[in-house]
Amino acid sequence: MTYLYDDPAAFAEDALAGFCDLHAGAVRRVPGGAVRADRPARPKVAVLPGGGSGHYPAFYGVIGPGFADGAVSGNLFTSPSTQDACSVAAAADSGAGVVFSYGNYAGDVLNFGLAAETLRARGIRAEHVVVTDDIASAPPQQAEQRRGIAGDFVVFKILGAAAEEGLDLDEVVRAGRKANAATRTIGTAFSGCTFPGSDTPLFTVPDGQMGLGLGIHGEPGLRDLPLPSAAVLAEDFVGRILAEKPGGAGDRVAVVLNGLGSVKHEELFVLWTRIAALLRESGHTPVLPEVGELVTSLDMAGVSLTVTWLDEELERWWRAPAATPAFRRGETRHEPAAAPVAEVVAEPAAPRYAAASPESRKLAEAVLDGLRAVRKALHGAETELGAIDAVAGDGDHGRGMVRGIDAALAGAESAWHDGAGAGDCLAAAGDEWAARAGGTSGVLWGAGLRAAGEAIGAESGVVDVRVVVDAFADRVVRLGGAEPGDKTMVDALEPFRTALVVGKPWAEAAAVAEAAARDTAALTPKKGRARPLAERSVGTPDAGAVSLALIVRTLAEGIR
Ligand code: ADP
Ligand code: MG
Repeated sequence: MTYLYDDPAAFAEDALAGFCDLHAGAVRRVPGGAVRADRPARPKVAVLPGGGSGHYPAFYGVIGPGFADGAVSGNLFTSPSTQDACSVAAAADSGAGVVFSYGNYAGDVLNFGLAAETLRARGIRAEHVVVTDDIASAPPQQAEQRRGIAGDFVVFKILGAAAEEGLDLDEVVRAGRKANAATRTIGTAFSGCTFPGSDTPLFTVPDGQMGLGLGIHGEPGLRDLPLPSAAVLAEDFVGRILAEKPGGAGDRVAVVLNGLGSVKHEELFVLWTRIAALLRESGHTPVLPEVGELVTSLDMAGVSLTVTWLDEELERWWRAPAATPAFRRGETRHEPAAAPVAEVVAEPAAPRYAAASPESRKLAEAVLDGLRAVRKALHGAETELGAIDAVAGDGDHGRGMVRGIDAALAGAESAWHDGAGAGDCLAAAGDEWAARAGGTSGVLWGAGLRAAGEAIGAESGVVDVRVVVDAFADRVVRLGGAEPGDKTMVDALEPFRTALVVGKPWAEAAAVAEAAARDTAALTPKKGRARPLAERSVGTPDAGAVSLALIVRTLAEGIR
């Protein structure tokens, strides 16, 4: 339960604003997150962890010397947008490049990946280190598919220390990837978390049980097991982690015993006694272990154990000093800053649209009407889409689509007022959708609508919807990399496109999309947040496929 909030939809922004006010001497708020208040005295690699909000002190709590240079912070449990990541990176870069680091989730991978491309095109070197520590989320043979959970903390700490040593971008990235390769986490949930403004948790754990293999975004555990004693849980955790000891690893380990939000420190200490004993019995030496709340999931009750096998350099970086609002270690040297960072206010870039023909202006009105109809439909379906996504994903799909379409319509209307034609209105809608919604669906819908808008152009008042849908679908498929059968929106999109190509009218193609979306219930997810919970997902359709079908059905009215 979240007791205190104003506008639930603004909870993440409101929390970040409070944090930045409280720590005004250390951090500065920038669009999309926060950065250190001081510029480095000499150019250094900027380490930028990021992801959705709701995980404090991850990610902005660890901004400071020896740790992060800034943090990219999305909406609750929703990946930040590409624009968020670019904005924070531009504010944090001091000339030596930036490294984004984030857990392995489709939305984060897409948005940070696009941001790195955008930054490189602007002359800022940008790399990324993806965290994949959750051993419950995929077998060792598919380790690269694993999710990132509390291992984030160790990887970010090591990246921060390596950058503080003055290493160059490639070396900092190498340090981070090495830390990730040496890190394993297992966690368990005792009860689900509840979004501000909601009175039901995203999932529940049956009485007397625990959900082994927790997610940190309100995903339920992968398997419900009887709730054991602390000693038995410690044995289970340590046994699972040691079974995955990397080949050739030594016996010195960084350890994080993490509380997810509402497990008491005393309980963690009880568990720690057992874990420490078992690690020592197995010949391991815990080095500066951390027990506390380091990567949380709102008010979720749960714990996770992270072990990172250290060699000499990893141990040096793990031990290195750090001074951040939420984490402090040793004494950091304070180098006088060249100049403090000013509060950055988003500068609205002056929109420039191609001269539009009167026909295209007329068509733009139809585009706006379509967006308005879709907005109404998505608002009506918000709860249902969230509930579908909560079965095996993280429950944010309804919220994300609503945030996206609201921004998209506002963007298109503003473009229209600035004289834009149909294509530019739709492209502006896409840009705003991607910038404001975040998440996997946000980046895909945003990029898809921009591509559709580019296909329409500014001249004609007549468009071939097949060309526009093709442009949308090509962009979504190329960017997301999903194939038919992976259980994503592509499973509704491809049959829809095919139906149009073979000459079916829009309304019939929409019916095909709806049937295809329903049929995704039988599929097992291979992409996105639902993948680790594949079995749980069977019997429920894919949220993104359902919303896509709803949108094309809604548009059938206006499209002839
Ligand atoms: P997130 O997964 O970041 O929480 P949403 O819940 O808004 O984002 O969207 C989830 C939907 O995104 C899924 O139901 C699926 O349809 C779609 N999706 C996930 N990964 C991909 C992908 N690689 N390609 C296309 N669609 C995807
Ligand atoms: Mg989701």
